[in-house]
Amino acid sequence: MTEQYRFPLVPGPVRVPEQVLAARGRDYPSPDLDDGFFTLYAHVQQQLQQIMATRHAPAVMLGEAMVVLWGAMKSVIAPGDRVLALSTGLFGDGFADMARGLGAEVRLLSFGDHATIDPQRAEDAARDFRPQLVTAVHCETPSGVLNPIQEVGQALHRQDVGLFLVDAVASIGGAPLDVDAARIDLCLLGTQKCLSAPPDLGIVSVSPRAWGTVRRVAYQGYDALAPFERAVEQRLFPYTHSWHALAGLEVACRLLLEEGLPAAFERHERAAALCRRRGSELGLELFPADEHYSSPTCTAFRVPERHPWPSLSAQFRERGVAVGGNYGRLAGKNFRIGHMGTQADEQLVSAAMDVIAEVLR
Ligand SMILES: *Cc1c(COP(=O)(O)O)cnc(C)c1O
Repeated sequence: MTEQYRFPLVPGPVRVPEQVLAARGRDYPSPDLDDGFFTLYAHVQQQLQQIMATRHAPAVMLGEAMVVLWGAMKSVIAPGDRVLALSTGLFGDGFADMARGLGAEVRLLSFGDHATIDPQRAEDAARDFRPQLVTAVHCETPSGVLNPIQEVGQALHRQDVGLFLVDAVASIGGAPLDVDAARIDLCLLGTQKCLSAPPDLGIVSVSPRAWGTVRRVAYQGYDALAPFERAVEQRLFPYTHSWHALAGLEVACRLLLEEGLPAAFERHERAAALCRRRGSELGLELFPADEHYSSPTCTAFRVPERHPWPSLSAQFRERGVAVGGNYGRLAGKNFRIGHMGTQADEQLVSAAMDVIAEVLR
């Protein structure tokens, strides 16, 4: 059996609390036979609505977070639609690629890997291009930046453009985001980041106008959103759901709500500030161009020139510290410390930075 690292600081999946594991480890009846599953599902929807600050009940689907990235895109894009992808990194670019693959006419507005989205430029592009869908990422984890989604959503709203889809997989629960105030139609969330549950459910809040588009596009498939619109009311899911996973998520949401969202956000801010300060003392350069762009859930540092990433990563892991490398064009350029969910813990971050200091010395 593989042992857990002593200092787990990968930007997801994060360490899962015992209570969540215990709730998942029990036996449950079949969700198809027992009405209790629908009661639990509706309850988790309400918890998530509080966490996401939205009036609209989210769909909770089986699968890792990517299931809702694909499922939401396929469910609202018809071939020929115009899609504006606002990007500050790999996930932002990924939406442009997905939309192209679905036959959309795509405009990619990239702000680079080190900066955040400029709401004014987003608004200008929307006015010019008149997209049916705008995509953005709240915490662009590979770059370690947090985008000003509230301002972007309000700027887009002034232009009365189409739907606004936001990937908040690595931020909700760790950084403030009011989904309705930000005018988000489809807000995507996973369980293995700030919610501190295992990686097997995808969550997406859907506004009434987004449901309208879902009905019109009528996409069918395992990841389709459509069957979730009336799932509770009709007592019918498109597949046998996982009572185990949902029971775990219920506990994870409860732990977060009991702590209180403002307290959780502060805990993330403190862990992030400590991480940036200790990194700067070690001569590590922050990857985002400005400290204010840096996410409270994930800190990205440049890989120091005299320490190639593969050997640096091996030395960290030998000493019990697991942090994230990167992929695509960012491979070997930066590494990420995921202080999100259970890992937004000053003691944990401090202990890991001690080890990192020892390796860099
Ligand atoms: C983690 C994450 C996802 C899910 O991607 P995986 O690589 O499959 O974990 C999606 N979007 C963002 C911004 C993420 O950080």
